[in-house]
Amino acid sequence: MTGTFWGQRETTVVVKDTSSKTLNSVQSLATELQQQEKKIDKLIMINQALWLFIKEHLNLTEEELFAKVEEIDLLDGKLDGKVKIQAKKCPKCDRVVSLKHDKCLYCGAEHLAETIFETI
Ligand SMILES: [Zn+2]
Repeated sequence: MTGTFWGQRETTVVVKDTSSKTLNSVQSLATELQQQEKKIDKLIMINQALWLFIKEHLNLTEEELFAKVEEIDLLDGKLDGKVKIQAKKCPKCDRVVSLKHDKCLYCGAEHLAETIFETI
């Protein structure tokens, strides 16, 4: 499968094993991919609408948006177009925990995420 996020998406799936179980799995993945693409398209439209509201109300420029996106991209130390949410220390027991879990695996502390983006 191939694709780009901002450009026009193109998806190609090559299946060499044509057993019915494999074909069903591929069909299931293709359906899931289509659903994800619809969600991405909708999120892009929502982000564009939000940006236009913010841009107009705060008199911001496209250059300022590019700079902010680059600043966020660099939070993990790499300018690679990816966002990596780092593991963090539990505020209760001070052990390193993954934000993939809602609770600390060591002490059970809840609400480990400090921003909404850490919950994605
Ligand atoms: Zn803990």
